[in-house]
Amino acid sequence: MAYYENIPVVIVPTIASTDAPCSALSVIYTDEGVFSEYLMLPKNPEVVIVDTEIVAKAPARLLVAGIGDALATYFEAEACLKSNACNMAGGKITKAAMALASLCYETLLEDGLKAKLAVESGVCTTAVENIIEANTYLSGIGFESGGLAAAHAIHNGFTVLEQCHHLYHGEKVAFGTIVQLVLENRTMEEIEEVITLCLNLQLPITLEDMGIIEIKEEEIKSVAKATCLEGETIYNMPFEINEDMVYAAILSADAIGRLYK
Ligand SMILES: [Zn+2]
Repeated sequence: MAYYENIPVVIVPTIASTDAPCSALSVIYTDEGVFSEYLMLPKNPEVVIVDTEIVAKAPARLLVAGIGDALATYFEAEACLKSNACNMAGGKITKAAMALASLCYETLLEDGLKAKLAVESGVCTTAVENIIEANTYLSGIGFESGGLAAAHAIHNGFTVLEQCHHLYHGEKVAFGTIVQLVLENRTMEEIEEVITLCLNLQLPITLEDMGIIEIKEEEIKSVAKATCLEGETIYNMPFEINEDMVYAAILSADAIGRLYK
């Protein structure tokens, strides 16, 4: 409304389930909840006010989904830095952007599980406040300044499967992050760090967790195809990408995830 009326925007989120509030990007959905369009706002909101007592009373699954969304921030920013890609604002990746993204990831590792458990107990602790800051601010400004890469494109790919429609944005992004790590052939140590966090928080680490009980080759190929559509952020990765690589990385990530079950 503020965009069309050309008036200032003040956002007061009551959940911390995505990195949207601080960003200048508004995602428009149809009444049925299907993605319709991206609306780029001329600038970021004037004010974002988060009452952590209110956010702490929201369902824990929403906070955890926000952690899943924030999990991608550092890895996508690092990919954009390596490939010299542009960030969401059209500029290059600065040291400040990398510092925000890296602090975001460190905060999730340090406080993610503590925050989930606190919210499940109905209380707001320092860990909850730190996670709200990471999910809302560090990830929001982090992804705008650091750019998006494979994890979010893989998320978009999975939206073509109806089995995944019950998942929140951040839950799919978490699995997309693991797939990106496999694409990059990261060390087992790095992959395990992310998987352990997801496992502790009950974020998806396998295709079964994503709602895909029976793995059909043509379905996973359709996900890979949608991930690699022209203009997707996966082309911000620092190496050449094709559908076969994404298909292989999804199945490989699933196999690694199953090891930890
Ligand atoms: Zn996101």
